[in-house]
Amino acid sequence: MTVRCRIAPSPTGPLHIGTARTALYNFLFARHEGGTFVLRLEDTDVARSTVAYERDILDGLHWLGLEWDEGPEVAGQPARGPYAPYRQMERLPLYRDAAERLLARDLAYPCYCTRDELDADRAAQEAAHQPPRYVGRCANLTAGERRAREAEGRRPAIRFRIPPGTVAFDDIIRGRVEIETDALGGDLVIVRSDGTPLYHFTVVVDDAEMAITHVIRGEDHLSNTPKHILLFRALGADVPAFAHLPLILNPDRTKMSKRKSQTAIADYRGEGFVREALVNFLALLGWASGTEEEIFTLEQLVERFDLARVHSGGAIFDRERLEWLSGQWIRRLPTEDLAERLVPFLSADLAARVAGGARVVRQPTVEDMRPLMPLVQERLPVLGAIGDLVDFLFIDPIAVDPALLVPRHWDAGTAVEGLEAARDVIAARGRVSFEADELEGPLRELAQQRGWKAGDLFMAIRVAITGRTATPPLFDTMVALGRARTLERLDAAAGMLRERLPTD
Ligand code: GLU
Repeated sequence: MTVRCRIAPSPTGPLHIGTARTALYNFLFARHEGGTFVLRLEDTDVARSTVAYERDILDGLHWLGLEWDEGPEVAGQPARGPYAPYRQMERLPLYRDAAERLLARDLAYPCYCTRDELDADRAAQEAAHQPPRYVGRCANLTAGERRAREAEGRRPAIRFRIPPGTVAFDDIIRGRVEIETDALGGDLVIVRSDGTPLYHFTVVVDDAEMAITHVIRGEDHLSNTPKHILLFRALGADVPAFAHLPLILNPDRTKMSKRKSQTAIADYRGEGFVREALVNFLALLGWASGTEEEIFTLEQLVERFDLARVHSGGAIFDRERLEWLSGQWIRRLPTEDLAERLVPFLSADLAARVAGGARVVRQPTVEDMRPLMPLVQERLPVLGAIGDLVDFLFIDPIAVDPALLVPRHWDAGTAVEGLEAARDVIAARGRVSFEADELEGPLRELAQQRGWKAGDLFMAIRVAITGRTATPPLFDTMVALGRARTLERLDAAAGMLRERLPTD
């Protein structure tokens, strides 16, 4: 048997962390088994589906590197695969045919119940503390009774008969699952009275038609699976194997939902988490690698992935771990690649500062970024943190908080003295000897001569030339800034502090 599995997102929201993980596990499983990974868009909820969400989902999967073998046409590329189209709204005739087949064998029937009737049933069940279920009013109408309702102008929905008994299946992750069909809410609407098919139906018709062998999806679908199995059987199709992935939980073990947590992949991407880290993180969100190792490339994951090592308990989303992985991955990127990825983040950061009144002296380019890589590569948890590390190189003048210019053990007078003396020491280095190694010694010496802690002097200099208390290494920072701007900023800072000194 050749494995065929699929991701079947509904474009009713942006690509969600959970959908991305499901896509990843399907992708890994298909690649590991030498099978086929299908992308199908389940867009039958017309009111909530949008083209923008569809684009977000496809872009996000593409960005993560989860290329599908079969799927809808995108970005001018024609649909790929033998079962096109891969958007459900373009497949309506298939569902109609399948519904006809079920009607013809009386496995489904037309249901003429009105909204009012159904609402009244539900209210009565609620009052009696019973779970909602269809009462079966239309299950056994005679041909005459149906005609009479048609004559009244009622348009029927189609209901699938849920037979009595038990549905059992062996979930690859959860083991044996048995559910009494009694608990499924009665006969199931598969086509609305306006002719549009419902999710439970389309998903089964398509999985059957597209010869899906493994349905790997979130645990939230576990309770749907018995309905789906009954539908597969009724349609005379092979029932695929099922694997239900554990829920993704917040650290407080509540379900991760878009209301309470950041769940859109685009938001993580926007913060500058690198794709390698997200893939690595999502892979470990529910799957045990079986080794102590924590860093995996997509290729390594393909090699190792095994549904048997997906756990059934909830998977806790640990943002700190994601940040750690992201930092690890940023360190592993080739510097040229990192420099390229950083440019748009730095540009966006600078644009935000311009909006706040700063003047950007130059737009960063890859050439600008290259020499900075040794200074930042070990210090970035996410690409979006680049502005905090190097923005002062691109902005003039920088904002300096005078209070920060005065280190803890100093008073303002000492700070002025320190900045001025440092300025002279640095000015004594010509353009040629303006190197990190050549700056450190003389400045340490200066501190020693005056009886200052080197750390205090360095902090005053750091704040003066960057506006920040935490930066890449100080002497490299001076070199990156250049001799002239370093001196200018030291002057400006000393001048600003001097103005604030009491005059007596
Ligand atoms: N469209 C469904 C969803 O987004 C797919 C469920 C399934 O994989 O069967 O939840």
